[in-house]
Amino acid sequence: MRLSRYFLPVLKENPAEAQIVSHRLMLRAGMIKQASAGIYSWLPLGFKVLRKIEQIIHEEQARAGHIAMLMPTIQSAELWRESGRYDDYGEEMLRIRDRHDRDILFTPTAEELITDIFRAHVGSYKDLPLTLYQIQWKFRDEIRPRFGVMRGREFLMKDGYNFDLTKEDALHAYNRHLVSYLRTYERMGLQAIPMRADSGPIGGDDTHEFLVLAETGESEVFYDSEITDLKFGDREIDFDDHAACQAVLEEFTSRYARTDETHDEALFNQVPEARRRTARGIEVGQIFYFGTKYSDAMGATVTDDAGTKVPVHMGSHGIGVSRLLGAIIEASHDDKGIIWPEGVTPFHCGIVNLKQGDGEADAACEALYASLKALGLDPLYDDRKERAGAKFATMDLIGLPWRITVGPRGLKNGVVELTSRRTGESEDLPPEEAVKRIA
Ligand code: ATP
Ligand code: MG
Ligand code: MG
Ligand code: MG
Repeated sequence: MRLSRYFLPVLKENPAEAQIVSHRLMLRAGMIKQASAGIYSWLPLGFKVLRKIEQIIHEEQARAGHIAMLMPTIQSAELWRESGRYDDYGEEMLRIRDRHDRDILFTPTAEELITDIFRAHVGSYKDLPLTLYQIQWKFRDEIRPRFGVMRGREFLMKDGYNFDLTKEDALHAYNRHLVSYLRTYERMGLQAIPMRADSGPIGGDDTHEFLVLAETGESEVFYDSEITDLKFGDREIDFDDHAACQAVLEEFTSRYARTDETHDEALFNQVPEARRRTARGIEVGQIFYFGTKYSDAMGATVTDDAGTKVPVHMGSHGIGVSRLLGAIIEASHDDKGIIWPEGVTPFHCGIVNLKQGDGEADAACEALYASLKALGLDPLYDDRKERAGAKFATMDLIGLPWRITVGPRGLKNGVVELTSRRTGESEDLPPEEAVKRIA
């Protein structure tokens, strides 16, 4: 992309309404624009990162054997009356009436709809296990929408639902999600710690939240510091192997790690004092096992191998897709701007032309641009007639991992400058070498 033809409405001033750094930087970098309280338009740069995050989620869901689909945002109140949640859900649910006076709602989550789909089409244990998921907009009429996309009213969520014959199988699905989520967050450059949590209006006993440690997080968390040394890394795991998934769950959840909702001071005090940590965290996902809560209420049954009708065991699993942009920025920025982890960066690198209009500099930039694209990379070429300082400030603000700076002086010696956004280190290299480093 050439910056002269892109739409990147960066703000020079710090927006007064933004209280935390990720919100400030997303507005300044022209990623989002508030449409109304807690509701945002995704401008091209923000949209690109959102798509990258979705892509990682899709790839990791496929790896775990889960199947993508899409359900509507507007749902009939009828299904929610069947489960009893139409009345229970409270003020966060946006209720709407259509022209025929029918009650409809903007979905805050989708257990009812997916259970309805399941009961219409699945009747035998032979069709299990089954895990379906979607990435779809949700609406919750949050009492205090704030911090930009972190607590929106409209927000993008990955929500997945497993259907299993037995409790044991459903707990395997739970473990499989835990493993898959660990991989997913790490690919986004995040450490998200599974913590024992409270199930809230979804219901159920077994639940973990994934928290990214950050001062601006809304949850208070208590944990054993050893947990921050755990990495999932690039281990290969067979997602059908119950014991292997269970072992990962045990490894990542055996140390004390809880949110304020389930915190137990006496248990916490058993952690050696030097390792006890109290901090704040951002909830970026949550997994639940809730057994037959919805299948009982809505009659979602299968026949088992003895021909008996039994309710299916279920769980649901959510990732805060749009919230993740805020969480990644909270975890990765400096005073100049965002520092994107490679896995989610909107462009792989920036090209800064120090002397736009200079024949040699222009030609060198064009050649770099073409060779990066030929490698399947996505460069952002700042081809505007701007001062070098302004170009650098924009690149630092939008946080691409690499910057290649091209100017007549370097070109005389056959070099361009390659700069890492994260370390700030620069190196003079022949253009072909710079391209190789990025690829
Ligand atoms: P919170 O405690 O922050 O209100 P939640 O526990 O109500 O979140 P879940 O029902 O667990 O949310 O939804 C799954 C994920 O969706 C959450 O882990 C979070 O990352 C994301 N999420 C929930 N509410 C919002 C929101 N208002 N804005 C953005 N993301 C959200
Ligand atoms: Mg909530
Ligand atoms: Mg929560
Ligand atoms: Mg939650």
